Amino acid sequence: MNSINDLYRQVIVEHYKNPRNKGLKEGSEYRRLRLKNPSCGDDVTIQIKTNGNVVEEVLHDGSGCSICCSSASVMSEVIKGKTIEEAEGLVEDFYSLIKGEEPRDEESLDEAMAFVGVSQFPARVKCATLSWKALGALLIGEEGVKDIHE
Ligand code: ZN
Repeated sequence: MNSINDLYRQVIVEHYKNPRNKGLKEGSEYRRLRLKNPSCGDDVTIQIKTNGNVVEEVLHDGSGCSICCSSASVMSEVIKGKTIEEAEGLVEDFYSLIKGEEPRDEESLDEAMAFVGVSQFPARVKCATLSWKALGALLIGEEGVKDIHE
């Protein structure tokens, strides 16, 4: 038994069963972006509220596979309270992790490290990165609805 992999699997299952920060809010201070991944059927909306340079709130809603939903929950916890620059760095680090590369800051990725194994399953990469892509787009001022295609 590989205990670190077991721990990571537990993190993913736990966030899937008990998602944090789930459910969107009304209000002009919230910006949202919806992304769909037709290859798996994942459909996720990410909503953020920034205050100055800080990402004060990260919310998510939608439906999808366990990897996608769990990743959105973990992402919301990891990003909440970070500055926009830190959040952008973490999005890049998460992409590195999922590509099988060494992230610069494993400590700040925190529970998102649980998705390290996804790099071995190319079909699941888009599931894991969908919510992070939506966040990255929101951070540079985009919003609305988008489809992710190959
Ligand atoms: Zn999926």
